[in-house]
This record gives sequence, C-alpha cells and structure tokens, in this order.
Amino acid sequence: MGHEEKSIIQKCKIIHKILRPLPEYDHRTPNSELPENGVYFFYEDNEFYEHDNKRQKRIVRVGTHRVDGRFRSRINNHYSGDKNSSVFRKHIGGALMRKRKPTDSRIKQWLEQDTPTFKEIEIEVSRVLKNNFSFKCVPVKDREERLELEEQLIATLSKCPICTPSKNWLGRYAQSDLIRKSGLWNTQYVFSNSIITDNAIKRLKELVNESNNKKKRVLFFIPCCSEKRPNGDGPPWKKIRSKQNLNKFQFLDDYRLQLINFYSSLSKKDAPNYYKNRGSGATRDRKVEKAWKRNLELFKSNTMKAIDRYNGKLYRALDDNIRDALRNGNIDNVIIVSALMGIIAPTDLISDYELMMGDKSPTTMTISDYWSTTFENEVINTYIRELLSKYDYIYCLMSDTTGYVSPLQKILSESEAYHIYCPDAGQNSPRIWGAILNDCLREKYVYPEEVEQIIPIYDCEMRKLYEIKRGSIPRQKTIVYKGGIGLGLTDKIRKFVCENFIEPARKRGEKEITIRAGDVHSRMRLSSRMPAVCSALKSKIDRLCNVEILDIKAPPSGQGANFYVTYKILGTSNELVSSELKEVEKKEVIGDRRGIPELLRELAKLRNEGIITNQEFEKKKKELLDRL
Ligand SMILES: [Zn+2]
Repeated sequence: MGHEEKSIIQKCKIIHKILRPLPEYDHRTPNSELPENGVYFFYEDNEFYEHDNKRQKRIVRVGTHRVDGRFRSRINNHYSGDKNSSVFRKHIGGALMRKRKPTDSRIKQWLEQDTPTFKEIEIEVSRVLKNNFSFKCVPVKDREERLELEEQLIATLSKCPICTPSKNWLGRYAQSDLIRKSGLWNTQYVFSNSIITDNAIKRLKELVNESNNKKKRVLFFIPCCSEKRPNGDGPPWKKIRSKQNLNKFQFLDDYRLQLINFYSSLSKKDAPNYYKNRGSGATRDRKVEKAWKRNLELFKSNTMKAIDRYNGKLYRALDDNIRDALRNGNIDNVIIVSALMGIIAPTDLISDYELMMGDKSPTTMTISDYWSTTFENEVINTYIRELLSKYDYIYCLMSDTTGYVSPLQKILSESEAYHIYCPDAGQNSPRIWGAILNDCLREKYVYPEEVEQIIPIYDCEMRKLYEIKRGSIPRQKTIVYKGGIGLGLTDKIRKFVCENFIEPARKRGEKEITIRAGDVHSRMRLSSRMPAVCSALKSKIDRLCNVEILDIKAPPSGQGANFYVTYKILGTSNELVSSELKEVEKKEVIGDRRGIPELLRELAKLRNEGIITNQEFEKKKKELLDRL
C-alpha cells in the first residue's frame, strides 16, 4: 500500500469519526433545525464501511450550495424537488431506470438538464430518497469555505479503498462510471487530487463542535385560553385519537377521554358543581350554562388545529409568520398546556370546548390537580420524561395562580426549567407572553442568559420553576439593569444609554459623543424596537443625562439602525448627572425598602398558617432586615 493511499484511508476514517456526534436528519426534519448555510453528508441504508473492523454507515454523498442561504432549499429539492432542481435525484432516477431496463428510452432525456421530467420516475425517486437516505450537516457560513470543503471531502472519500459500495448498491447501476467506481452519488471532484488537508480536517472538527454546542434545544410551554374560534373543518376528536400526525401526545388520550366523556354527558343540574370560578349570581348561571352546553358536543363537533382554535391575547400577539410556522410544524418546540387535553402540540386537532384549570374534574379534584396526578402516573411520567429529555432549557410562559404551573412542576423537576411571569401586568400578561415568545422564536434564543436579557424590557421576571411554592412570598425582582418601577421602554433605553455610553465618555473626559441607534439596539439585545431607540435618543435624554443634542442624522426612512445623534457632554464628572436621573434611582431604593415590612407581615402570616417553619421565618426575616 502506497503512502498516499494510507493517508487517504486515515483521513477518511477521521472524517467519519468527526461527524459521528452530529444528529442524523431525514426528510421529516423541520427546516428550522437546519442551518441556512452548510455542507451536507448523505448516508444510505445498507451502506457501510469497515475501517478498523467496525461496521458503520458510510457517507454516500457530499454536497453544498453556492448561493448563500440556500442550504434548506437544497435539502428540500433533493427529497422532493425534481430532476432539474437536483442532480442527486438525476443520479438516483437514472440508476433506478437502468437497473430495471438498461435500454429504457427515457434515460437519455432524464439525464439531460432542463428537459421535461417523468412524473412516475420522480415519485419513485422521492420514495427511495425518503425511505433509504438520511443526512448530517455542518453549518458553514462562508461560501468559499463551503466549496473548498466540499471538493476536498469528495476527493478524499472517493479515493478511499476501504469504503466500497455493497453488492446491491443502487449506484452500481448509475450511468456515470464515476459513481459506480467511487461509491459516492457524486460526479464532480470525484477522484480529483484535492485530498483534504490537515488544516481542513481541523476546521471540520471545529465546525462540528460549534454546531453541536449550538444544538442545545429549547422548549416553551404556553397556556391555552378561553377565547376560542368556533366550529372547524377537522374530523371529530374520536376519529383523530389514534393518528400520530394529528395528535402528538396520544399517551394522554385515556385521561382526556375520561374528561370528554364526563363533560359531554354532564346533566344541566350538576353543571354548577363542576364549572367553578365563573363569577356570581345571574352572570354565573349564564356562564355555567354556556360552558355546559358547549362541552356537550365534545365528541361530535369538528376539530381545528390548536394554534387556530385558541384566539386569546397571547395567541393574537404572535407574529403571523411565527403562527404559520407553528401551524405547519416548522416550529415544533412549543407545547400548549390545556385544561381539557393536558398538553398538546399547536398542530394537534382539538374540539371547541370550555374548561378551566380551576374547574372540578370527575374525580372531584380540580382540573389542575387532575393533570398533576396524571402526570405523576408512572406510565405517563415515563412518556413525558422521554419527551422532555430532548430539551436542555425549558421556559414556561404562564401565570402561577391559574393552575397551569403546578402540573408542569410535576414533570419538570429534573429539567432546567424557568418560569416567566409579569407581576404587574394583570390582564395584559398574555399579550406580553406572546411578545416574549415572538422574540425568543424569532431570535432563536436558547440560553437563560439570552432570554433574561429581554425580560426587563417587558417588565417581567424569570425564576427557576421549582422555586415556586404554593403561597410562597413574592420574590425580589431580579432585574438586569435597574429601573423596574414604572419605567417605560424608552426611559429604560435612555437610562441604558446614559450608563453605558454617555457616562463612560464623560469619565474619559470627552466633550462630544455620537451614538448610533443600531448599537444601542444590539447592546440592549432588543428585538424590533428601533423606533423606541430613536425616540429615546432624540428626546428627554438631554435633561436626564446632562447633555445637549448637537446634531441628528436620520436615514431616509426617518428611523433605523443608522440613526445617529451627536451630543455635547456637559459637566465634568459623575456628580453632575442630572438630578432627574438621581431621582429615579432614589425612588427605586425607597420602593425596595418600603416592600420589606410588607414582606415581613406576609412571612409571619405564612408561619402562623404553618406553611413555613419558624426557623425559615427567622432566617428570611434576618435577610430582609439586613437589607434595610
Ligand atoms: Zn474510507
């Protein structure tokens, strides 16, 4: 064996090894999980290599895309495009035809570019690709780097004498002898001399590591809502029960059925005993009757996707494109907590219903406790744990007083789960959760540090889910940059600009500073809040930060990232910060202190009620008093 051959075998082995930790995808993988730019590696059933006597799937095709941003469409074209949009499909179709009948007169036309295709062959090609081929990929942003890696990878893999195709490999019937001889569904760069360099191998490993680190997965739980769109055009629920694609968490069906059976046959006389928390007097009677009537149809009525059925503030606050992605399953990391259904995917079909977490269940406990108990059931718990084990971070956007959180606490105790809540927003909370979900999904936030950055913008708070206990005392606000008391977003931006741009410049003794809106926007990690940034930069800030506006340069649209404001910095030191800013800070401190006696009273109450021990009370009391 020659020196070059040995080195190729070694490199081929390393390439396969480097790619091993990457997740394997197929035609069902949502686009959102794929990079926008990258190199892909296809694997085919029954195709193995035997380096070191180890049997492993071998790479059967390497590819990439030229135009930036086309990675996903490249993959989609392979699995379900046509021969003219995918050379891979051309190779497969050609081999299929030649295998069946080498003299098939359609072969010539099939292999030519931009000629009319044959529908029946396309169907067969899609079937073969979807059934037999999976792929892995590494994100590669730079076009030149992508193309270079592709070339070197193909050259190396094609020349490896160990990675030979199996006896029955479809590629043995390919028209091109490059495919037949190399064992790759590639023709370009096959057997070329651009064997992968040691640097490129190192880089490949880096890219895989980066992508694997980024591959932390995040899940969001949101509550259902009472506003629902009526009717629907899906089959009644009893028909979709066992259909995996219409009903993701079927393991809950027996428990849902118990509720559905019960409420759809409840007598009018008994209704008030079960539909609780619906006001008082005549209003209550009317509301109870309405809920009772609506649920009589649970079995028979048409269904609708949950994301369309729910029509409350949270759902209406979602961006159209995010709602679309939730509807078609391209975003699949949001789960809805529902009183009737337990947990459901936005794509699940559900009936029109009316039930609240505080209502009474057939087992006489509340619905919230009904689901808590169900989730603790050993079998159900196993299913749910398996489901949740795929996620690294979980965020629950819901109130802790409406019965949604406690069932979740039963299943999330082993997860890194956070509760996002809006202490002062009242009725507006759902709208804020909708806005936060928009931001998180749009910006693909995963880590708590990322999500935490946007929390103060909405006057919300975030805490570990397991820290919430029934009757627990309100926790002190954890705010990234202070100013939680009634400061609107523009005031927060002004304060941020003062503290992070103007004051440091003043300290450095600078007399002038020019600030770009886009820089503020990105440093505050805001999302689509450019108008607020521009407005903060041009008004009120002069008084607040002791500066004078010298010049404003706006882009043609009036607002945008390239909106510049130049300020003259007045005063020479920190002491001259405007009294107004100090006033704001003072208020914060007072607000904080004023809360402590109240907290102490709350604590004492909790102790008297036996919810916390005397020891816990004394410890907390000392902590609070120390802060005074
Ligand atoms: Zn090999």
